[in-house]
Amino acid sequence: MATPRTSKSSSIASPVVGLVGNPNSGKSSLFNLLTGLRQRIGNFPGVTVEKKSGVLQIDGFPPVEIIDFPGAYSCYPTSLDERLVVQELTNPKGDLFPDAILYVADVTKLDKHLLLFTQLRDLDLPMILVLNMADLIKEEGLQIDVTELSHRLGVPVVAVSARKSQGVAELKTAIGDLLRNPKAFRPEEPFYEPGVLARDVLTDLRQELPARNDYHALLLVHHASWLKHVPETMRHKVQTARVKNGFHSLRAQVEETMERYDTFEPIVRNTVRRSGARASFTDKLDAVLTHRVLGPLIFVLIMLLLFQALFAWTSGPMDGIEWFFETFSSAVRENLSAGWFTDLLVDGVFAGLGGVLVFVPQIAVLFLFITILEEVGYMARAAYLFDSLMQRFGLNGRSVVALISGHACAIPAIMSTRTIANWKERLLTILVTPLTSCSARIPVYVILISFAVPKETFLGFGYQGLAFAGLYFLGISSAMLSALVFKLVLKSKERSFLMLEMPDYRTPVWRNVGITVWQKVKTFIMEAGKIILLISIILWGLSTYGPSSSMEEARTQVQKTVEEQGLGEAEAANLLASEQLEASYAGHVGKFIEPVIRPLGYDWKIGIALFTSFAAREVFVGTMAIIYSIGSEDDEFRIRDRMAEEINPRTGEPVYNTATAWSLLVFYVFAMMCMATLAVTKRETGGWKWPIIQFTFMTVLAYVSAMAVYQVLS
Ligand code: GDP
Repeated sequence: MATPRTSKSSSIASPVVGLVGNPNSGKSSLFNLLTGLRQRIGNFPGVTVEKKSGVLQIDGFPPVEIIDFPGAYSCYPTSLDERLVVQELTNPKGDLFPDAILYVADVTKLDKHLLLFTQLRDLDLPMILVLNMADLIKEEGLQIDVTELSHRLGVPVVAVSARKSQGVAELKTAIGDLLRNPKAFRPEEPFYEPGVLARDVLTDLRQELPARNDYHALLLVHHASWLKHVPETMRHKVQTARVKNGFHSLRAQVEETMERYDTFEPIVRNTVRRSGARASFTDKLDAVLTHRVLGPLIFVLIMLLLFQALFAWTSGPMDGIEWFFETFSSAVRENLSAGWFTDLLVDGVFAGLGGVLVFVPQIAVLFLFITILEEVGYMARAAYLFDSLMQRFGLNGRSVVALISGHACAIPAIMSTRTIANWKERLLTILVTPLTSCSARIPVYVILISFAVPKETFLGFGYQGLAFAGLYFLGISSAMLSALVFKLVLKSKERSFLMLEMPDYRTPVWRNVGITVWQKVKTFIMEAGKIILLISIILWGLSTYGPSSSMEEARTQVQKTVEEQGLGEAEAANLLASEQLEASYAGHVGKFIEPVIRPLGYDWKIGIALFTSFAAREVFVGTMAIIYSIGSEDDEFRIRDRMAEEINPRTGEPVYNTATAWSLLVFYVFAMMCMATLAVTKRETGGWKWPIIQFTFMTVLAYVSAMAVYQVLS
């Protein structure tokens, strides 16, 4: 959508404006306000940091591309996100180097938000200071001298409210003016000049470093070891010069930061005045919500409400989607001539699409909740509440969000770990999140629990419901324990800390909520969708075709049975489907793996279902329906009845006894049966190593636990 720039020199032809600011300054809200749905989401080159860009129309200009940079506190990064900001803003030759910067600051917190501002100003980047949350100025009893602030900081200052859509016209005018004349605002003097600690090393290197000014050079000296645009030979030189001059990076950072605060704090004091005591609504609420006892209790209540919503509100739409695909498939079948193409379309493509879309309502509701909780400021408290507990398991306070989201779908959950700065904690969160019971497991649980647990109640609680809750508990506790094991196995020197600012409590900006939910749903459909669709087509092929001799044999056999027993048309078709599945490649795989899965209590028919559902769990039920020659349009209760009649020819006992059913349930809790999740793990960890480890540990865990359960119960 956004017009790509033709070349650096003609950048004014299609200018790029970067949105930069501290986390929680309202950057995303402003981005959404400026670009609406004209957004594109991708990744910054080479890293898994989300890149959002969009288009802004300003009169008299070609479309302006707005890039929403990740939130950052300073030019001394502590997270992947912050690194990226420094990486791009110190690289004037890079494609993402903006022509101008909108520096977004929370007007009520200028005393904190200006640190990064002064650093970027010292890089001599054309900037506008956007004072966001202007709607709070009155409420908080603030008086701001915008003209004086602009004069003292040396940049245009515009007050806006992303929430109330105020100040947009002024902002656009200011952007236009700045782009037309980027050199109009030059700082008279820098906020900070490299001090004694850095002077020697800079003198040595200044001529050689490709830097625009002293501060730029200083940042290159600090970060040469990881900045991608610094060539290897330069890195070497910097390292040598650092050692020679005894340059101590951390000490220099501290010196710089303190000096900057000393410079901008007086400016803020003189231009922003506070009258009256600040409203302490947030403090009062925090006393309850982050209370040591009440806090976790309230969290659990909110989670209960969330899960209630997740299941109660979504069953209608989910049934609707299933109904649509069934009706549509039958219509296609009736109207197209029977043949492989129709089968491919209905059993491969539509089945795959339906299998993906049916989860959309749950994902939407889950992210509706999570986004609202983020927007009102609660998620930061939840992360804070659970940080020390999570750290004991090698995780991070922010892992809470991923572990909750995993109950709808591991894919967006894994993607949400990008905010975790510590790599090891992020990795562990990614590795264990798929152990939480996602919605694709529900249909499998429903069917199998009916075999495993009697339909009785105890003190008003149904045993089956308790078993259901137990499986969820098993999932989350195994996730925590696995994290603990990984924590002990993987060594890491990186220090853990939770960099969190507690935002004030606010009512959500509904535009943000809408856009986020839409984006999460879109990601799910694109990420999981293409893989599930592809696999669904492959599986269709494997379960429709087989060695021609066995397929032929199956057909003759069915014909004979039909004639002998005088079966009706529907019954005959179901029988044929079942026999053909057995004769197909998938059937051969099922039989091939039978010796391996026999200790778990499974026969080759379950083997087929295990095989076909390895790509996506929900396929289990559909495969069962075919194996037991029940038309796919029948509901799961018929499948259950048919499964209950199944007798093991070797023992004469029912196949689906309590032991087998529990063994299968445990298997499905633990096994990594989702190719789409593996693909996302690969993308987020940048290689095949971790998805392979994830797959292996989950499969081994599933196999061993299922075997133990079966052996004990039988
Ligand atoms: P980001 O982390 O910088 O992207 O910030 P967000 O856009 O997510 O906003 C952080 C919080 O500030 C959210 O709760 C927003 O609802 C809120 N917020 C954003 N803009 C405004 C505004 O203009 N006024 C008020 N009162 N709140 C805002």
